[in-house]
Amino acid sequence: MNQCIIIHYNEIALKSGNRKFFENFLTRNIGKFLQRDFPQIEFKTERLFGRIMISSSKIIDAATQKKITNSLMNVFGIANFSFAWKLSRDLKEIEKNIWKIIQTNKLAGKIKTFRISARRSDKNIPLTSEQINQRIGGYLFSKLEKKIPKIKVCLKNPNLNCFVEITEKYSFIYFEKIKGASGMPQGVSGKALALLSGGIDSPVAAYYAIKRGVKIDFIHFHSMPFVSPASVEKVKQLAKIIGKFQLNSKIFMIPFGEIQKEILLNVPEKLRVIFYRRLMFQIAESLAKKEKYLALYTGESVAQVASQTLENINATNESVQITILRPLIGFDKEEIITKAQEIDTFETSILPHQDCCTRFIPKHPETRANLFQIKDIEKNLSVSKYIISALKEMEIIKIK
Ligand code: ATP
Ligand code: MG
Repeated sequence: MNQCIIIHYNEIALKSGNRKFFENFLTRNIGKFLQRDFPQIEFKTERLFGRIMISSSKIIDAATQKKITNSLMNVFGIANFSFAWKLSRDLKEIEKNIWKIIQTNKLAGKIKTFRISARRSDKNIPLTSEQINQRIGGYLFSKLEKKIPKIKVCLKNPNLNCFVEITEKYSFIYFEKIKGASGMPQGVSGKALALLSGGIDSPVAAYYAIKRGVKIDFIHFHSMPFVSPASVEKVKQLAKIIGKFQLNSKIFMIPFGEIQKEILLNVPEKLRVIFYRRLMFQIAESLAKKEKYLALYTGESVAQVASQTLENINATNESVQITILRPLIGFDKEEIITKAQEIDTFETSILPHQDCCTRFIPKHPETRANLFQIKDIEKNLSVSKYIISALKEMEIIKIK
C-alpha cells in the first residue's frame, strides 16, 4: 500500500477536445511547483485516466502534507486533490486495507456515521459504483459494528467519507477532498504583460489573468531617482507574492522620470494622468510586440478614480492597438480588497509608497477627456524617442 496524491481537474475545461493539451500542461506545472517548493523531495507525476497521480521519494508526514496542501492550492487547473493510498484493483484487498487504514490512523474512535463513495473510471468492472458502495460498506459495517455498536451508514454529511476510485491500473482510497484553485493551468492561454503599480488593484488583476491560464510577466514604470528605492522594492515584493501562483516571472522596470518631466512641461495639469497612461500603454505595447506578449492587463475599474471614467479609458485605449484586458472592470473597491487579502498582496500594497504618477497628481484631473485635444498636444511630445529610450534603459528582474 503506497501513499500518493490524487489530483482531479475540472471536466468543463476538457469539452473542446483539448484534453491532452490541458492535462500535459497541468501535469508539468504540478511537477514544477512541487520541485520549486520542496527541492528536498523527489516527486513523480503520472497522468492516469482523467486524474494525475503524484508519488514521492519520501514518506509524507502530517506537517509536510500541510505544506504540500498550501503549495497545491496555488496551482491553477486543479479542481480538488487528496492524499491517498494506492492499491491494486482487487475488491478484497481494498476492503481489507480500508479497515487497516482506519485502525492505524485511529479513525474509528471519532465516528458515528460513515459512507463509501466509490467511482470507477474502468467501466469494464462487473460491479456498478453503487454495488461497490454496498459491498465495501457492508464489510466495513460488520467490522465497525464491533467497536461502535451504534454505527450507521449516512449518505449526507457522514463523519467518515471513504472515497474509493477504481481506475484501469490501480485503485485509490482517501478520506478527504481538498478544494483546489480551479481556473486553467499556467501557459495554456499564452503570455501577457501586467501593468503593475504599487497599488491594491493591479496585483489582483494579474492574479485573475494567471487564473485563466495566462503566463504573466510584469511591467512597472518608476521615477527613480526622483522617488525612493522603497517604492521599487515594494513592486518587486508584490510580483514575488503573485509569483507563487505561477512559475518564473519577470518584471520589466521602466524608467519613467524623463517622460514625466516632458509631460510636465508640455501638458496642462488636468490632462497629465491621461498622458502618463497613454505613454505607459505605448511603451508596454512596444515591448509586447518585441517579446510576443498577446495582451496588456491593468487593474482599472470603471469610475473608481477620476482617470477611470469611460471617456478617459477610451482616451488611453486609443493610443495603442494591442488588446487591453481589465479583469477588475466591474469590481467594487471592497471586493478587490477582499481578494487582495485572500491572495496576501493587501498588506504589501498598503505600505506607503510614491507611485511615479502620484508625484505630479493634479488636484482636479480631467474626467471627460477630449481625444482631439489630446492628440493635438501629443504631437508636440517626442513619443517615439521616449519609447525607444525607455526600452533601452529598462532593467529586467527575475522572480524565483
Ligand atoms: P492600482 O491600485 O493598481 O495602482 P489605481 O486604482 O491606483 O490602481 P491608477 O493609478 O489609475 O489606478 O492605475 C490604473 C492602472 O494603471 C493600474 O491598475 C496599473 O495596471 C496601471 N499603472 C498605474 N501606475 C503604474 C505604474 N507605475 N507602473 C505600471 N503600471 C501602472
Ligand atoms: Mg495606482
